[in-house]
Amino acid sequence: MLPIQIVSGDITKLTVDAIVNAANPSLLGGGGVDGAIHRAAGPELLAVCRRLGGCAAGDAKITPGFNLPASYIIHCVGPVWHGGTRGEAELLASTYRQAMALAAEHRLQSVAFPAISCGIYGYPLAQATLVAIQTIEQCRRQGAGLPEKVFLVAFADNDQQVMSRVLADCGAE
Ligand code: ADP
Repeated sequence: MLPIQIVSGDITKLTVDAIVNAANPSLLGGGGVDGAIHRAAGPELLAVCRRLGGCAAGDAKITPGFNLPASYIIHCVGPVWHGGTRGEAELLASTYRQAMALAAEHRLQSVAFPAISCGIYGYPLAQATLVAIQTIEQCRRQGAGLPEKVFLVAFADNDQQVMSRVLADCGAE
């Protein structure tokens, strides 16, 4: 059984050790889930992000959660979708690997991911969910100290259905 659950709703409301942010390379806030996280965490988050020096696509950085119920925020930058021929899947997998590595380093037991790259960046949700599940499962087989609970958060209409079907196809449910 994979330690992955699909949950529906606003990631900023989740009481977990860390929520993951689908940020842009500046790490200075933006639209979508990034904007929601900055609004909910409060202005201290932006002040700390300014000192991080940005983040490359496929990489991840960690900050406190400030006013969020989550203790930490893992800021990631996923790939922009260009049709799938420009290494998008490998970059997305790297994003999940880096986030899981930070979670392990900080001994976090529960982590919630939004559908990284599936909004403004245009990555098809089913394909991205498959990459997410396969990468998280690979990390779990290979690494020690990884979170026991991993949530994939469905936000837009019908996303839960799409993501649950991919998880079921992976043999987890
Ligand atoms: P990206 O630029 O990586 O595509 P977006 O923020 O545009 O990032 O979208 C990523 C995903 O986050 C989308 O599937 C979007 O529906 C979802 N999303 C937006 N707001 C929230 C939220 N408050 N909680 C959880 N997921 C969210």
